[in-house]
Amino acid sequence: MKLPIDRFKELRTPFYCYDLSLLRSTLQVIKDEIAGYPFVVHYALKANANPVILNEIVKTDIGADLVSGNEIMTALEAGFSPIRMAYAGVGKTDWEIETGIDNDIYCFNVESVPEIAVINEIAARKGKIAGIAIRVNPDIDAHTHQYITTGTATDKFGIDIHNLDDVVDMARNLSNVHLRGLHFHIGSQITSIEPFMLLCERINEIVEHYEKMGVNFEMIDVGGGLGVDYKNPEENPIAPFHDFFNVFKQRLKLRQGQTVHFELGRSIVAQCGVLISRVMFVKENSIKKFVILDAGMTDLIRPALYHAHHKIVNLTTKAKEIDTYDVVGPICESSDVFSNDEKLPITRRGDIVAILTAGAYGESMASRYNMRDLPQSHFIKS
Ligand SMILES: *Cc1c(COP(=O)(O)O)cnc(C)c1O
Repeated sequence: MKLPIDRFKELRTPFYCYDLSLLRSTLQVIKDEIAGYPFVVHYALKANANPVILNEIVKTDIGADLVSGNEIMTALEAGFSPIRMAYAGVGKTDWEIETGIDNDIYCFNVESVPEIAVINEIAARKGKIAGIAIRVNPDIDAHTHQYITTGTATDKFGIDIHNLDDVVDMARNLSNVHLRGLHFHIGSQITSIEPFMLLCERINEIVEHYEKMGVNFEMIDVGGGLGVDYKNPEENPIAPFHDFFNVFKQRLKLRQGQTVHFELGRSIVAQCGVLISRVMFVKENSIKKFVILDAGMTDLIRPALYHAHHKIVNLTTKAKEIDTYDVVGPICESSDVFSNDEKLPITRRGDIVAILTAGAYGESMASRYNMRDLPQSHFIKS
C-alpha cells in the first residue's frame, strides 16, 4: 500500500485510510479460492461497517454475518441479501429476533435452549418459520488470546457438545423453526491451520453421529477466525486464504447438497486499513522517551484491550538514526499505549505516523470516551 503523505499533511488527524484496491484484490482471491465449491462466505460486519467498505464487499456475492439487530438493518441498507445473512450472538433481544424474522434472514445461529424456544414462539406469532443453526461449542483451543478464544468449554458461547443430542431433538420437534445445520466459531486471529484441521475432524464426527440417527444437515457453518500478519503487513497484505480454504476442501466430508458457510471478518478488511495520526509531543524522562500521538485507544482499542501490537511507521522522516520510544495516545488511561519500546527513526513533533493493519476492529470499536470526536475515514485506490 502506497500512502500519499503529501495529501495526509493537509488532513485533520487522526483518521482511518482505506486502500480500496487492496480490499478488491483480497475479495478477488476469496472468490477464486471458493469457485467450484459449495462454499458461501459471509462477511462479519462487526470487523468494520464503514459504508464505503460495505459497498465494495456487497458487490461480490459475499453474504453477511451479523451480531445485532442494528447490524441486520445496516446490512440490509448496504444491499446484502437476507438469504445470505447469518445472525449470531448469545443474547438476542426480542426486537432483534423479530427484525431477523421479519426480514427472512437465512439463519439464526442459536446459542441456548431458551433462545430456540423464544425464536420459535416469535416466529409462530408471525406465522413464519425461522431458519436456525445450532452453535456448537466444540471444545477446541484455538491458541489465540484468551479474550478472543470462543470455542472452549469455559467460554460463554455456543451449546455444550455434551447436550447437543437433546437440543437437536428439541429443535427438530418445534413447528416454527427449521434446523438447517450446525455452527462453529472457535476464535479469532488464528494463525495456524491446526485448529481448523481439528475443527474439521470434530465436525465430521458430529455429522456422522447424526447421520446414523437419520438427521441430515443442509449446511455447516465453520465460522471465521483466520488471522492476519500484524508483524509484516507489507510482505503479507493478503491473508493465507488458499491454505485456509484447502483445509476445508480436503478434510471436511461433505454430504450431497450440503453447503459450507464461512464467516470472515478480520482477514477481509484488516490489512486494507491504516490509522493515520500526528505526533503531538515527544517527551523524555530519566528512563524513557514517549511519542505522544493524537490518536488513542478511542480510535483503536486493540492494543489496550488485547495487548495487540500493530506495526507503526513514521511517514514523515527519512532519518536513518533509530531511537526507542513508548508510543502512546492522549487518553487518561494508563493502558492507552500503542507500543512499548518501539524502534522508530528519530521522531519529532508534527511527524505523521501510520498504524498498520487497522482495518478490522479499529473504526468499528471506536468510542467517544473523553468526549473525543470519532475518527474520520478517507479512501485511496493505489
Ligand atoms: C466475530 C465473529 C466472526 C468473525 O471473526 P474474524 O476473526 O473477524 O474472522 C465470525 N463469526 C462469529 C460468530 C463472530 O462472532
